[in-house]
Amino acid sequence: MKNKQGIKRICWLWRLGLLILLIFLAAIRCATNPVTQQSQLMLISEEQELKIGNETYPNALWGGEGGGGEYKDEQLKQYLHQVVKKIHDASHRSNLPFTFVIQNTSVPNAWAIPGHVAITRGLLAGLDNEAEFAFVMGHEIGHISARHSASQMSWGMVTQLGLGLAGLAVTGTDYGPALLGLGSVGASLMLLKYSRDDELVADRLGVEYMTKLGYNPRYAVTAHQNLQRISNEYLKSLGQQTQERSFFEELLSTHPRTAIRIEEIQEMINQQPPAPSQVDRTNKSYFQSMTTNLRNANKVYVEYYDKAARALQKKNVAEANNLLGKAISADRNQASFYSLEGFVLLQAKNYADAERYFQGSLTLDKNYQPGLRGLGMLNYAKNNYGESIRYLQQSAKLFPQDIASRYYLGMSHYQTKDYKSAIPHLAAFAEVQPKHTSIHGILGDCYEKTNNLTSAYQHYAAQVQIAPNSDIGRASASRFSAIKPLVEKPQKK
Ligand SMILES: [Zn+2]
Repeated sequence: MKNKQGIKRICWLWRLGLLILLIFLAAIRCATNPVTQQSQLMLISEEQELKIGNETYPNALWGGEGGGGEYKDEQLKQYLHQVVKKIHDASHRSNLPFTFVIQNTSVPNAWAIPGHVAITRGLLAGLDNEAEFAFVMGHEIGHISARHSASQMSWGMVTQLGLGLAGLAVTGTDYGPALLGLGSVGASLMLLKYSRDDELVADRLGVEYMTKLGYNPRYAVTAHQNLQRISNEYLKSLGQQTQERSFFEELLSTHPRTAIRIEEIQEMINQQPPAPSQVDRTNKSYFQSMTTNLRNANKVYVEYYDKAARALQKKNVAEANNLLGKAISADRNQASFYSLEGFVLLQAKNYADAERYFQGSLTLDKNYQPGLRGLGMLNYAKNNYGESIRYLQQSAKLFPQDIASRYYLGMSHYQTKDYKSAIPHLAAFAEVQPKHTSIHGILGDCYEKTNNLTSAYQHYAAQVQIAPNSDIGRASASRFSAIKPLVEKPQKK
């Protein structure tokens, strides 16, 4: 007998990493760095860079660095977009396309990937004026210009905090608890960090671009000071002894020290020729008035919503409910508040009200991904598999790496005996959650019913190893023995 070692479970991310590596290897060549004008080993083409950027983007927006999707404020977005466009046009790679987005999370951060640049609600709410914003965006665009990475660039802190919190309250099935804590899958990509040198180069480019546009570079210094202040406030808002806190503290300690960076920026400013105009182009009062709504909303998020999400994660339903009631009465325009309340009600198996709240979130924003996932999960719990499939497909389209959507999508297909459609989603889930207590038995069944006995055999074996004493474990053991002769025979000499 041979090869009983079970299944090779290669995590998605490893596969993705391998794929990227292969692309690299296929495309190694030298290119002129747009910033330094020096020839350097360039691993991927611009086209590939943009392709990876576009694939990463939805997962970064919904899964990475706090998740949350887009913060919707059309007027504010238009205003900031034209500022970003000017910086982009002044940058070394103004030929690239770009989108700009305000990410709806309290985590103070900004990031860019080729083709996309983002600032979080939490960071934007703490900036003082347009010049500071211009520096932050210039820094991000600087990372792209200098081709520091083809995948992810981050200013401030890169975190996995609060990922998809809203979607993780799972109910109505035996599989629920194992799904808690998911949602960070897409975020692991975000953890590529820049070296200290890269950060300094990006700082320098940020200063250069903002100066070109007539902003006083001393606001690069205040932007850094503000980031530090905002980060400390955010840390405080997390309270003591949360997992997030220690994670965040660790990030703070490993991030290049603000004081050092400010010193370096001061040095850069001293080396720059004096600004042509003496006017401080900060546009402060306009910036402040345009961001008023966002700052007010941000307070409600930090005060109630973020705490509600953490309470729900700890299964403290009453507290979550109470906090969300306060959030909604303070601000009736946030799709996320209604959606999270939907998850609270779903947890309590109050399906009628849960549905009302999920629908309410979609009325405010028809592409609010957690709301779609919520309706998918709700319909799954009610055995309405046609509906659950419809919602979960929309949800997975918006956020392809959302593992909860993939799980329920796969399970919905499984319940309707569409084993072929179920397999890719459940297999994706199993790669991320290989120790899940029933997924391998279900996959074994799917494979057996689609006549892939080798895969069925492997998954039954895994199921027996992980949870032999459950119903599904015993059923898997029996199927394992039944198909064993069929599978092992052809392998013998
Ligand atoms: Zn950076």
